Amino acid sequence: ILEVQHLGKSFGNNEILKDIDFSVKPKDVTCIIGPSGSGKSTLLRCMNLLETPSCGEIRYHGTNIMDKHVNVPEYRSKVGMVFQNFNLFNNMTVLKNCTVGQEKVLKKSKEEAYRNAMMYLEKVGMAPYINAKPKQLSGGQKQRVAIARALAMEPEILLFDEPTSALDPQMVGEVLEVMRTLAKDGLTMIIVTHEMAFARDVAKHVIFMGDGVIVEEGTSQQIFENPQKELTKEFLSRFR
Ligand code: ATP
Ligand code: MG
Repeated sequence: ILEVQHLGKSFGNNEILKDIDFSVKPKDVTCIIGPSGSGKSTLLRCMNLLETPSCGEIRYHGTNIMDKHVNVPEYRSKVGMVFQNFNLFNNMTVLKNCTVGQEKVLKKSKEEAYRNAMMYLEKVGMAPYINAKPKQLSGGQKQRVAIARALAMEPEILLFDEPTSALDPQMVGEVLEVMRTLAKDGLTMIIVTHEMAFARDVAKHVIFMGDGVIVEEGTSQQIFENPQKELTKEFLSRFR
């Protein structure tokens, strides 16, 4: 459903992504791992059109998303994103965070948006907090609301950029647990993460990035049990 072809991204003279090629099939869980600065966030941001790629294509159901006819808010409802720092609307309640996009972008009625929001807030265990404001919540709770908000848009693919790296260690587990459930439900996900145990267990496909290129990719088993490249071996050895 998503194909990245010869994707490149430069900021000025700085080539951050070079000739990135990969594809995602329905229900795949793809984890992107790699050192800091290797371009993982930039890649996800390109896939969500938060950055404009400098060259190459990203095809979603065969359509190049850079095509000027693509409706960006609508595309982002199909390919949603969950951020490291949650990006919740801090002036809105938990419930409103989860209904506003449905009403504005998907043109859902208030009632339908409410029902949908409640279903996903229940799924992430945040239904008791619908009237809270984000600042009253812990980091783990905020991230679960952000996930519910993304799910309420009924995306076909969800992108996660280090969803647990801003969290205190005791809250990492609750967010990973929600993500494991989503994987079991068959949601297509692309996850940038430093949680190697999670990637190893949950990912079907693992992409190791270094310095703007895909150094190595394969099944979770291939990458974690039998990496071929020195860079991959060296990176993974830091987590043992
Ligand atoms: P981390 O693990 O630390 O999150 P990352 O793999 O996500 O790293 P990116 O955030 O994609 O890496 O950054 C890759 C490179 O691109 C870095 O050298 C960064 O300084 C540069 N970069 C990212 N965004 C911009 C920007 N808007 N303008 C200029 N350079 C940028
Ligand atoms: Mg990053």
